[in-house]
Amino acid sequence: MFSKTQPSDLAMFGGSPVFDTIRSISNLVRPDIERFLAYSKIFHDARQYTDHGAVERELERRLAQFHHVKHCVSFAGGFWGLVMSMKCLALPGRTEVVMPSLTYRRLADIVAWAGLVPHFCEVDPQTLSITAEKAASCVNENTALILGVHPIVNCCDVEGLEALSAQTGIPLLFDAVESVYESYRGRKIGSCGRAECFSMQSSKLFNAFEGGYVTTNDDALAARLRDMRHNGLRQDGTHDDIGIDAKQNEIHAAMALAALDDVDDQVERNRRRYYAYQRLIPTVPHMRLVAFDESERCGFKNIVVELLDGWPVKREHVLAILHAEHMLSRPYYFPALHQKRTDYPMVWGDLHATEDLAQRFLMLPCGHFVDEADVESVVATLRFIHAHAAAINERFPS
Ligand SMILES: *Cc1c(COP(=O)(O)O)cnc(C)c1O
Repeated sequence: MFSKTQPSDLAMFGGSPVFDTIRSISNLVRPDIERFLAYSKIFHDARQYTDHGAVERELERRLAQFHHVKHCVSFAGGFWGLVMSMKCLALPGRTEVVMPSLTYRRLADIVAWAGLVPHFCEVDPQTLSITAEKAASCVNENTALILGVHPIVNCCDVEGLEALSAQTGIPLLFDAVESVYESYRGRKIGSCGRAECFSMQSSKLFNAFEGGYVTTNDDALAARLRDMRHNGLRQDGTHDDIGIDAKQNEIHAAMALAALDDVDDQVERNRRRYYAYQRLIPTVPHMRLVAFDESERCGFKNIVVELLDGWPVKREHVLAILHAEHMLSRPYYFPALHQKRTDYPMVWGDLHATEDLAQRFLMLPCGHFVDEADVESVVATLRFIHAHAAAINERFPS
């Protein structure tokens, strides 16, 4: 329960934290142990631990069904699914990948691992994501690929990007990690563009400890990805020389299946947490909850708020205060990727909107360790910060 009355009650300034244990923003969903063990028994009995065993085959079948798509190719991580897909899809002789800068912190690194060059486009301030129009302004004779990335609440402009791809002949790949459960205009995410990439790292909706997968309706692409993840070894005994050992193993696949069995219940739990935030965030002045579009399927996984004009405490100070209360919170995609120093080349023009948006958003505690009463305490803390802003600001060195 929240019971602070003055700034010195904040843990940051010597009070005791609201929570004894950390409330994270990572999902960390824990599937039922019996299901995990039952799936694990399959590979244990078969004495096959990796190399496309029965559990992994079942996982791929179930995921393809889940996404309404023909093929699912699993990987040891989302990272390698993305690298391999880019390797396969990039137009030969060209190097640039059009992608947003306000996105997942490692996405430019992944492009560089694929031997390509990120070309950052602006994002739309309403959706916080890449649009066809923003992407089109970065397309040139050196564009090898368009990387549509879904933001962490709702989806990006799928149909617009598909039209741009059709019109320019530049292949379209999606990073759909954050939209794994969603639909776009009623169509399940998973069959859009040439392929879509997903992660099953433990902080994502499906917890496989680590893992990832690529979905596609393209038979040839799926076949090549299957060879590439398996050291590039082809059925006929020859090699794809950019292959790597990036296979999913059986125990991770068992965990993923247990998580998949639980996903609708998990989304229901996420929905309740989200509704609690939706009810309470309007009690905090100068703060707006980024709303899920409930006319579509939503996973309700992430809670993002905007600090509106007039919010009185610096975002970095809000973060420090929340962390001291054992409430993990992160700035939403900050710094933007073009603002980070890297050893590889990147291309960008005017990214004003991105730079402004990178300052404004916060992700709040959610996922498996947060219940509805916790949400009340988090929001009470935010209200408290707003109400005592002047006294709090005085305590931070300017
Ligand atoms: C986590 C994440 C990835 C990478 O997935 P890993 O399985 O951790 O390699 C890629 N894109 C986005 C948007 C992510 O959030």
